Formats: sequence, C-alpha cells, structure tokens
Amino acid sequence: MSNYSLQDIQQLAFTGVEKGQPLIIAGPCSAESEQQTLDTAKAVSAIGVKVFRAGIWKPRTMPGGFEGVGDNGLRWLQRVRQETGMSIATEVATVEHVKAALDAGIDVLWVGARTSANPFAMQDLAESLHGHDHVTVLVKNPLTPDLDLWLGALQRLLNAGITRLGAVHRGFSSAGAHIYRNDPQWHIPFELRRLAPNMTLLCDPSHIGGKREYVEPLAQQALDMGFDGLMIECHCHPDNALSDSAQQVTPDALKGILNRLVVRSGLPIEDELALLRQQIDDCDHELLAVLARRMSVSREIGQFKKAHNLRVLQPARYQAVIHARLEEGKHLGLTGDFTQLIMQAIHEESVRQQLSL
Ligand code: PEP
Ligand code: MN
Repeated sequence: MSNYSLQDIQQLAFTGVEKGQPLIIAGPCSAESEQQTLDTAKAVSAIGVKVFRAGIWKPRTMPGGFEGVGDNGLRWLQRVRQETGMSIATEVATVEHVKAALDAGIDVLWVGARTSANPFAMQDLAESLHGHDHVTVLVKNPLTPDLDLWLGALQRLLNAGITRLGAVHRGFSSAGAHIYRNDPQWHIPFELRRLAPNMTLLCDPSHIGGKREYVEPLAQQALDMGFDGLMIECHCHPDNALSDSAQQVTPDALKGILNRLVVRSGLPIEDELALLRQQIDDCDHELLAVLARRMSVSREIGQFKKAHNLRVLQPARYQAVIHARLEEGKHLGLTGDFTQLIMQAIHEESVRQQLSL
C-alpha cells in the first residue's frame, strides 16, 4: 500500500470539459430501464454534459423500495458511452460492485453517503481498487457531519494508490423537519478544501435540496463559493422516477439551469465573509426548524391540557423553565437579558398556540 497524503490528490480533468468551467455530472438517480437510461443520456449529452451518472445498486434507507436494476444496468451504461461519448459514472458500495464496475470499464465510481460513513466498508472498497489507479473515484460526504470520517474514507483510497479522487458535498442528515432534505453545513466542505486544496470538490444540490425547486439556487450558491462542479439528478420523467422523484429535473429544466448559472471568476472558496455568512444561514435554518418542532410539541401539550381540564398557564412551571434556561444560557456565554427575552417570546407564542386550540 502506498503512502500518499491528501496534498497528492490532483484536480480531475475530463475530456471535453474546458478548464475553468464547472464539471457537470448529470443523469438519473437510478437507471430504471434501458430506454429511460438512453433517453436521458442522449438528452443530457445534447446540452453539453460530459459525465453521465446513474445508480444501478441503490442503497435505500428502508427495505422494500426500488433497490436498483443491478448488473444489467452496466450494459446500458456501456451503450450510453458508445452512443454519446460521455464518461459513465455509477455508485459502488461493495467489493462485488467494484469488481463488476471495473470489469465493465465504468469510468467514474462514486461512494455514497451511507457507505463513506463506514470505515470497514471503505477499507474493503479501497483494497478492491488497489492496482486500478486509472479509475476516478468520487467520495460523497458521510451522512453525519464528521469531517474526519470523510477524510478517512479518502485517505483509505489514497493508501490503496487511487489518486484520481474527488469529493462530493451532498449535505448531512439531521432529525426533524428542515427546509432542505440534507443540511448543507458548508463549513465542512470548506475545511476539506483547505486540507486537500487540489482535490476536485463537487456539490450535489439535488440531494441537499431534496426538491427540484432548490436545485438551481443551491447550485448557484455552490459555484459562488468556488466548488469545481455539480452533480445533478436528471430524469426524462421525474414524476414517475422510481427513486428521488421530487428532486430530479427534466433535461429541459437542466438546460435552463445550466444556461442561467453564472460562473464568477476570482471568488476564492476561502472567502472568509461568505463562509461566515453561510454559517449564519445554516444556524438560522436550524433555529427555525427547532422552533417549529417546539411549537408542535407545545400544541400537543395544549391538547393534553384541554382533554384533562388543566389550565394553559402554569406559573410555577414557567418560573422553573425560565430559571433553568437562564442558567443554561449563562454556561453557553449568553447574557441573562437576551436569554430572558428569547424565552419570553417563545413562551408567549406557546401560550397563544395552546389558547387557540
Ligand atoms: C445518489 O446519488 O443517488 C445517492 C444515493 O446519493 P447519497 O449517497 O448522496 O444519498
Ligand atoms: Mn438519488
């Protein structure tokens, strides 16, 4: 096994992608049939996409969903390359997938978020890739916002001699309802860029947003922050897609998005102010989601009080809560006045909501 460091990873180049232009990888979440795969591929190739993605082995969170077409899809991807000239990319999660994909000559393998989170799986994948240093491997961030896990996954591949590496930011899982399907936490990919400055860093706005209307604004945001390219899910008939239907765009919509995206030069990813503002936005998204969750629990309490003939306002409980929160706030470095103001506003809204039931 070799001893490469993250500094050894070089920028990925793909035939036909001009230097300075974002690398666009597009295609369906899943290959579903030969027809759907080829129709989508021809349509995205016609708008200038050079790398086609399609999952054939699908890691689904819950059992019983569509788990991909399996090895059959490899032939369809080969046809895509023959007929359009695009490079072909698919997700691998096991040693068997890697072997089948290498035998089929797949150009780009990506490791998904559920796999990059597992060091045993990453070690197995890395060992199965040993000696195949011509292949390009993209590593999506793990589900949890843990930079070390992401770095560790990349390092295992590097140790196996794979230097054509890139990273894909697809956001992080978080509990509760949020505006985005996966929380961007942009400071994590920024830190990765600092540690591996030459590595191609892509953004996957489809999996971050989870809804097609978020793809364009997130894609623009990513380019503004200096990401090298985008992985976008695109399907000829997104509403009928067997996986990730809500976030896939049609080839026509993709064409519009790509035409409207502005590539600004000279905006370094290290732009401190942009990074800090991004963190503020992330915090605000979290705050609103937590407040919404709190109000919903509060309404449940309201229903309980109503059912049991209890008063909405319970002064002793309120005093105890305020006291505990002031103490907690103090430990976190918040002034008493501020904590009191916030807690009062939240409590007033809770009472309003319970009274209106
Ligand atoms: C995918 O790209 O379709 C996929 C399953 O992505 P992720 O691993 O980011 O969830
Ligand atoms: Mn998907």
